[in-house]
Parts: sequence; structure tokens; C-alpha cells
Amino acid sequence: HAKKFGKKRTVVYFDELDKGVKELVELEEDLKVAVKNNEFFLLYQPQIDLKTMEIIGGEALIRWNRPRHGIETPLSFIPYAEETGEILKIDSWVIKQALMEIDKLSSLGLDDFKISMNISGNTLNNLDYLRKLISELSIIYDFSKAYFEITETNLIEDLENSREALETIKKAKGRIALDDFGVGYSSLSYLKGLDIDMIKIDKSFIDSIDLNMQNKKILSMIVNLSHELGMKVLAEGVETKEQLNHIIEVGCDYAQGYYFYKPLSVEEFEKILWEQLKNNQIADSERSNIN
Ligand code: C2E
Ligand code: MG
Ligand code: MG
Ligand code: MG
Repeated sequence: HAKKFGKKRTVVYFDELDKGVKELVELEEDLKVAVKNNEFFLLYQPQIDLKTMEIIGGEALIRWNRPRHGIETPLSFIPYAEETGEILKIDSWVIKQALMEIDKLSSLGLDDFKISMNISGNTLNNLDYLRKLISELSIIYDFSKAYFEITETNLIEDLENSREALETIKKAKGRIALDDFGVGYSSLSYLKGLDIDMIKIDKSFIDSIDLNMQNKKILSMIVNLSHELGMKVLAEGVETKEQLNHIIEVGCDYAQGYYFYKPLSVEEFEKILWEQLKNNQIADSERSNIN
């Protein structure tokens, strides 16, 4: 089976061949109506500040409640949505939904948090579309708590286009995270002219530091260089205590992964943020009672 080949891209490629023509036609038809029929929803995976071990926000991750199929994960439909162009509508839906959630969390009294959302290469490369979307949404929503995640591969495809897309987002006060760093080109040199706030080290790279001392040294260099360039570093897919120790040792700022939390329903996510806020308030008032 495709999984033998290990790499995510290879899996997508082989899965594509696995799907029959009839299946693909159905998928295309189903995708066309999915946004309109409100079949998508977002999970939120908490992100942890490694200095305080507190949750500082979360990444929105799409799921599809597909009729007659059940819940589908992104890798089973995002590549097709990108091929058919439906991804533009889907990305727009995700961004709006996540911005609405930011509004909701703010109105609950939460203040110090960020929400990350993924945008595909198609949206990034469709400058007119992106500009219109951002300008419409920025009238209504607060972008200052939003991170837009762009993969390294998509970013370097067309650097001039990427520069303009990033400027559009930054002008609206949004922030940029470079997603899946370490699986593709993995060079920091092209980042010079780009206004990136955070880099997210891919899970495969985090997995490799357990196995190979040299990889840990490379990660350490990436972290130092990123900090010198004014960027924060988040480690993705942290699953073990050992990995946590390693990433703290090399100076990563943030982490995300099953070791802390799996992607949560929006209700669960709000609940844990709310509990953290309450606990901090209790701790604060206890401290001021002592003083
Ligand atoms: P990503 O942006 O790199 O997201 C991280 C993926 O790793 C998520 O998978 C998350 O559930 C998973 N993950 C997090 N921690 C761990 C861990 O400790 N162990 C393991 N094994 N996995 C972990 P998910 O939700 O299946 O998303 C896969 C990819 O699909 C994302 O990778 C992103 O590229 C894309 N995607 C997800 N949501 C959206 C979306 O709303 N729009 C677009 N355009 N793409 C999306
Ligand atoms: Mg991401
Ligand atoms: Mg990633
Ligand atoms: Mg990844």
C-alpha cells in the first residue's frame, strides 16, 4: 500500500491513482455543493508557549462531514479541491469561519491568543481573488489575532507573487506562518525579503531529531537563525516527552502536537481556553491577596 512509501506527497499521489473514475466524478460533484450545504467544520488544535506551558492559541483544521461517507480528513479531498478550483471557495469559508471564531473568543473575554488558518497555493497565487477576499473581510473582522499558514513549497513557487500576497495580508494586520518547514526546500535564504512572523517546523523533522544528533544540531541552527531574522519558531507534531525536551533545549518558542492535544471540537477548544483564563484569574487574585 501507498503508506509504505512514507512521504505525505507520495501517499496523496498513490491515493489519487487508487480512486476510480466513478469515485472521482462523485467527489467532484460532492465538493461542488459542500460549502453551500454547510458540510465543512473546523477543529482547533491548541498551540503551547514553551516558556509558560500555556495555550496561546490554536490552528484551525478543516473536516468534511460528507453525505453517505462520514467525516473526511483534508488529505482525502484538499488535493482534489485544488485540482478543480473548489479550494478557493473552501479557503474563503475557512478564513471567514476562523475570523468569526476570533471574534467570539474575544467577546468571551479572552485576549491574548492567536488563531492560525491554512491557505492553499491556489488562493495564494490568485492575487485578485485574495485581495478582494482580504479587503472584504478586514472591514468586518479583526485580523490582528490571525495567522495565515502558507507552506514553504507554495511560497517559493512564485516569490514575486508571494511577496505581494504576504503584503496584502500584512496590510490588513494579519500575520504569516511558514508551514511544513523542513520537508521541501528548507532554506532560510529566500526569506530575507519576505515578512514572515513564524516558521513551523514539520513533524517529519521533529521526528528525526530523536534518531539523529546531527538533525538536532541543524534544528538548533534553524531556530537561532530564525530568531535573528525576527521570526518565532513552532515545532509541529510533538508526540513524546523526549521530543519536547529536545525542542525546549534548542530554543523553540511554541509547540503543537498529540503530546499536548489532538485537534479539538470548537466547544472543547473554547472550554479549555476558558478554564485556563479562569485558573489564571484565580492565581492572580490569590497572589494579590498575599501581597
Ligand atoms: P498542517 O497544516 O501541517 O497541519 C498539521 C497536521 O498534522 C494536521 O492534520 C494535524 O491534525 C496533524 N497533527 C498535529 N499534531 C500531530 C501529532 O502529534 N501527530 C500526528 N501524527 N499528526 C499531528 P490534518 O488536520 O489532517 O491536516 C492535514 C493538512 O491538510 C494540513 O497540514 C494542511 O496542510 C491541510 N489543511 C488542513 N486544514 C486546512 C484548511 O482549512 N485549508 C487548507 N487549504 N488546507 C488545510
Ligand atoms: Mg498548518
Ligand atoms: Mg504544518
Ligand atoms: Mg505538516
